[in-house]
Amino acid sequence: MVHILCPARHCLETPREMLGQEALCPFCHRQFRLRFQDSLEYRQQVLEERTRREEKTGQLWLYWSVGVGVAVVVLVVILMVAAAQH
Ligand SMILES: [Zn+2]
Repeated sequence: MVHILCPARHCLETPREMLGQEALCPFCHRQFRLRFQDSLEYRQQVLEERTRREEKTGQLWLYWSVGVGVAVVVLVVILMVAAAQH
């Protein structure tokens, strides 16, 4: 079962095999086409994918900034060692 909102935003529980067919909302009697792209499940899926992608990008940024931080520390240490030798 998937949940699809009618044009008046009533939430209709729909069997997956009904997708792609015309339906009549039992609440407002409007006719509309059942599309998986309009279902709450699809939105949830898209939202989860986006969150996962953002998490991955966030991690990448974290690794990048940690890498830059480490590089700066190493550079400072090298400079200090070089300064101490003169
Ligand atoms: Zn409706």
